[in-house]
Amino acid sequence: MERRRPIRIVVSGCLLGEEVRYDGGHRRSETVASALGKAFELVSECPEIGIGLGVPRPKIRLERKPGGTRLRGSRGEDLTPLMDDYARQAASVFDETRVAGIVLKSRSPSCGMGDVKLHEGSAVISENGTGVFASRIAAALPEAPRISEVDLEEPALRDHWLTRVFALAEIRELASGSADARTLYEFHARWKMVLMAHSEGTARRLGRFLAATRDIHGALPRYGKEFLAGLAEPASVGTHHNVLLHLAGHLKKPLDPAARVRLGGEIAAFRARKAPLAAPVRSLAAWAARREVQSLRNQAYLAERPASLAYREGIYRE
Ligand code: SF4
Repeated sequence: MERRRPIRIVVSGCLLGEEVRYDGGHRRSETVASALGKAFELVSECPEIGIGLGVPRPKIRLERKPGGTRLRGSRGEDLTPLMDDYARQAASVFDETRVAGIVLKSRSPSCGMGDVKLHEGSAVISENGTGVFASRIAAALPEAPRISEVDLEEPALRDHWLTRVFALAEIRELASGSADARTLYEFHARWKMVLMAHSEGTARRLGRFLAATRDIHGALPRYGKEFLAGLAEPASVGTHHNVLLHLAGHLKKPLDPAARVRLGGEIAAFRARKAPLAAPVRSLAAWAARREVQSLRNQAYLAERPASLAYREGIYRE
């Protein structure tokens, strides 16, 4: 599917090298600023600047209170209502501008997700809090995949996030165009193998749903919602292995025995966590093109992605 506009990703500004941290510094991440920057349109966001805190500024923190988590300023002021308002407006802008993914700085009381120090009085009572901005954005835009710069360095987590980003961008393109029955069936056929790796049940259920539906325009919102929810489930080495074997089955006849053995070896090396997923995927895509295997030619599972992302190039641990 040809993309009409670049994929837009929101990023914590300090990860891009902007000096917006409380101490006037930044936390530039090469993976974010350079690798993602070459492939996507990055939109900088600093919610603490957004609510009017300057640079430099006293540190703020997360506090546990009887009614929930609060964002507390250095003089004890409650910044939560300000951040709530700001996050609500930001979420609506992200939605309108078709943001397809979000990268947020770890351990920040505003941006952190699940790794932020939570205080009670002067004591730190846990280190698995979620920043107020991050939690409001997650609630307002559940379909937009979010990741921290730390998790981006973990191959399986990075690939899962990227897969969801590509899928959300494509489904948005579909929804914004004149989707008819044919385009939706083609979309499902194109993404089915990716979905199978993440949620086989969703892939089969959506296939039955499309076969039974008569009103494609009415079906698209439900289809998109269930499709993205299925993709949010993590894939495993085992489920990817099943998909690779299934795709290799399409090449049984077109490939000579030596090529089949080589491809089988690459798939086995991935299964044994000795090779990245990209190795058998590249071979499958190359053979599908060379032998003109139509059933594989447009598979999203085999699609080439921008090289800077190193998509599927790391070894999965799980
Ligand atoms: S972590 Fe978030 S709030 Fe803190 S400086 Fe970075 S972008 Fe701004």
